[in-house]
Amino acid sequence: MQNAPSYKSPSGWNALLPQRRNREDETTTRRFRTAVIGAGYTGLAAARRLAELAPGEEVLLLESSTIGEGASGRNSGFLLVNPGEPSANAAGFAKEWATRQMGLVEAGLDWLRALVSEHSIDCDWDENTPAITAAATPAVEKSVRQTRETYRAWDLDPEEYSRPELSRMLGTEYYRYAIRSLTRALVQPAALHRGLADTLPAAVRLRENTTVRSLGDSAPFLIQTNRGEFVADRVFVTNNLHARSLGIARNRMIGIYTYGALTPQLDDDQLALLGAEDAWGVLPGHRMGTTMRKTKRRLLIRSGDSYEKELGTADARRMLTQLYRRRFPRMRSHEFEHVWGGLTAITHNDNYFFGQVKPGMYASVGCGGAGVLRGTIQGKLLAEHASGLRSSLLRDRLELGTPTWLPPEPFRRIGATLQIAFEQWQAGRER
Ligand SMILES: Cc1cc2nc3c(=O)[nH]c(=O)nc-3n(C[C@H](O)[C@H](O)[C@H](O)COP(=O)(O)OP(=O)(O)OC[C@H]3O[C@@H](n4cnc5c(N)ncnc54)[C@H](O)[C@@H]3O)c2cc1C
Repeated sequence: MQNAPSYKSPSGWNALLPQRRNREDETTTRRFRTAVIGAGYTGLAAARRLAELAPGEEVLLLESSTIGEGASGRNSGFLLVNPGEPSANAAGFAKEWATRQMGLVEAGLDWLRALVSEHSIDCDWDENTPAITAAATPAVEKSVRQTRETYRAWDLDPEEYSRPELSRMLGTEYYRYAIRSLTRALVQPAALHRGLADTLPAAVRLRENTTVRSLGDSAPFLIQTNRGEFVADRVFVTNNLHARSLGIARNRMIGIYTYGALTPQLDDDQLALLGAEDAWGVLPGHRMGTTMRKTKRRLLIRSGDSYEKELGTADARRMLTQLYRRRFPRMRSHEFEHVWGGLTAITHNDNYFFGQVKPGMYASVGCGGAGVLRGTIQGKLLAEHASGLRSSLLRDRLELGTPTWLPPEPFRRIGATLQIAFEQWQAGRER
């Protein structure tokens, strides 16, 4: 089992930003009270909050990749407060459960918004652009309509869009129905990720390019990395799927790669073919569907799912080009400037692993395909949990379920691969 993700291509979002100097902060000691493993949104939030709660104490934050290059800098930048996955049909979720879930994620949004404002993080934070959940087929239209009814039962009343409205807005006849999604903001994800890392409290010692290879069994924990050993009394495991290689949630998560691409900047004629709005976001109504954004004169497209193994970049490009062409046949070109894959950690029942693993060891992993806000709030709450703080939010988080057991290999692979193939077939034109 690999210790950390290693991608075939860089993140397109990160490539759009200026060069950044990696942080490999010097430390005067290799012995810490607190260490955090993995600096995605979850780890950044945990490290920040731990430093706030214990002023004067150094917090070691270890990241195998560089900031902006992990899944946190490769996603589509939708800050969603959905109780479930972005595309899942929310019908059937109980109101009380959904309200508590959304309350948690909203708290993540509020915290991020405040940090972005306080530190003037330049990440194209945008709460005005319309972001919708769209259906291309009658079956998915039905499920999006059911989702709307469920939202209405939760006292939300999302706007609806007909085919002509969608055609005007997006410039394509592809979609037949949509509702306003529960997206609260859109961001440039790599810029947000960098901004959060670069404004951590000074007591957080961030070491990029440092992969944790193994973790001792009990406190004080011996942390072995490719850059030497560290020891910590408390360890926070926030490295998502690769927590499995450290013995955490081994039979609770699977890895699904999904793929993103960005076009070059488009000229005015081409942009006009992407509809009347300067910017928009489309989430799929089916979970095997396609996400898109019109942003900063480019089109972003995200789609495809593969079990535990990343497609080659040429294959990912071919797949995404086909989906782009299908939706916008009149574009002069369907070229992409950047194509990349990204890893998500999925659980069987969409619950995330959160809490104490053993004395001194805490983990928050498995945030699935909508983890920017969820990871952020869970990282913050994990730090508070370990520090003995109590709040209604933390209680709500602790009362949520945990991921269910998954069968071992090869049954897991066979089951997941068959399910992906079936759902992709079922998705049809939603892909
Ligand atoms: C293409 C794509 C599109 C997506 N779109 C959205 C979206 O629009 N909105 C949304 O909310 N979510 C989206 N997601 C999901 C979102 O990116 C994740 O849920 C989120 O990144 C989870 O954050 P995290 O900090 O828990 O994990 P990660 O972001 O995976 O961070 C874990 C970090 O740990 C590091 N690490 C791993 N192993 C080790 C180790 N052994 N030692 C040290 N470091 C290690 C990794 O390099 C990584 O940086 C998308 C994901 C992908 C791939």
